[in-house]
Amino acid sequence: MDYKTKFHELIKKQKAYIYMLQLAGWDSQTEAPRESFARRAEMVGMLSGEFFKLSIDKEYQEVVNALNDSLGELDDLTKREVKKAKKQLDKIVKIPENEFVEYQSLLQMAQQIWEDAKAKNDYPAFKDTLAEIIVYTKKFVSYYKNDDHPYNVLLDEFEEGMTMEDYDKFFDALKKDLVPFVKTVLSAKDETNYEFLDNKYDIEKQKEFCDNLIDVFHFNRDRGLMKKSVHPFTWNTSPTDVRFTTRYHEDMVFSSIYAVIHELGHATYEQQIDTMWDDTVLNGGTSMGIHESQSRFYENIIGRSLEFWEVNYPKLRSLFPEQLHDVNLNMIHKGVNKVASSLIRVEADELTYPMHIMIRYEIERMLMTGETSVDNLPEIWNQKMVEYLGIKPNNDGEGVLQDVHWSAGMIGYFPTYALGSAYSAQFYHAMKKDFDVVAAIKANDIKKINDWLKEKIHKYGSSKTPKELLLEVTGESFNPQYYIDYLKEKYSKLYL
Ligand code: ZN
Repeated sequence: MDYKTKFHELIKKQKAYIYMLQLAGWDSQTEAPRESFARRAEMVGMLSGEFFKLSIDKEYQEVVNALNDSLGELDDLTKREVKKAKKQLDKIVKIPENEFVEYQSLLQMAQQIWEDAKAKNDYPAFKDTLAEIIVYTKKFVSYYKNDDHPYNVLLDEFEEGMTMEDYDKFFDALKKDLVPFVKTVLSAKDETNYEFLDNKYDIEKQKEFCDNLIDVFHFNRDRGLMKKSVHPFTWNTSPTDVRFTTRYHEDMVFSSIYAVIHELGHATYEQQIDTMWDDTVLNGGTSMGIHESQSRFYENIIGRSLEFWEVNYPKLRSLFPEQLHDVNLNMIHKGVNKVASSLIRVEADELTYPMHIMIRYEIERMLMTGETSVDNLPEIWNQKMVEYLGIKPNNDGEGVLQDVHWSAGMIGYFPTYALGSAYSAQFYHAMKKDFDVVAAIKANDIKKINDWLKEKIHKYGSSKTPKELLLEVTGESFNPQYYIDYLKEKYSKLYL
């Protein structure tokens, strides 16, 4: 058997394990009864162990290395697959096992230390652990890729091809153009009555509205489904099985609606990928940033537009006549786009959200380049909050300690959150050249948008890099100006 065939055969075998592990994961987060967890953990542990063995199996390593040594003879797609597999393999086999185990137990402890520190607003209790995580992270990177800055290697792991240089340009543009604009919007006079946002909305009726959204967005129910979980997420094994969740709170009706629309964006991406990638390492969405661009496109560009509510407000109002009887269309539009400076990232609105990410990126960058030590983080954090959003946390729990990411060793992850929104604005600009997108939303024809996304982005799975996709779909490389223009146009109309 030739190496290429063997490679795919071994990948498929690994995928069988991943498939069952993922199914167990889905079940745990949605329907599994309380007392099933101990037994399940044991079974999952065994399967995970088997999967790990396969992923570093000698034969697999031989095949990947042999193919990697003869890249010149491979077709472009196989070449991409092999490079991806080799990258993953190096990450596992080049880190000494004992150090990896030490790091895992550090992360376990870090979780608890961070939680306690956050609850007590006690940053000093966490900072030494954070410093250790950074030391490990840098050391690990040096084992498998030492020809680039460690932070660049991490950034690339979360968003292929992105570097500090790219992100610096992006955030510099935001700082120059968006920070002053955000301040103008925040100080604008706003007499809208937002009380309806916090009314109580019956959960069964919320479910009815959310279920209806599945059809509004033309999600294929024969290839997917929606359930409820504590934190909304999207899950998939193949385009023929894509599931997602939302959560319901009586006094936060729009939180469940936008969770559904957001996850539908992720889920539709996965559903529209060509099944030809199923047995390769090029299945699934190509990157976190591109994935988030799809969910943000759905959530913000479609779901928070006036035209979307023109179509969908009658249904919501008929379900909640009491809560919405004196709320007109413009109030809904304004309400779902309400801007406020907040201390907490996950509660931030579309306009102020990138400011929160900018702070995190700048701090991570300083930590990774050694421009600052962990000692100064609360001070830097609070300074930046004042500079970009005009507010200062009262304590570190609502400041530098608010996110789980650093304690989980995820350094380089944050900037992809802002990237998604910026990509979505650039895609939107390209889409508008092909057809009248607003008219499609107004005509309740989301299918037209889905078809364009499928043809230009979704069907390729991970066979194209984010940078290739942007260039091919929009005719230019990443350009944050579209994002800035989009936000300024939208929020000027709403507020100024
Ligand atoms: Zn998302």
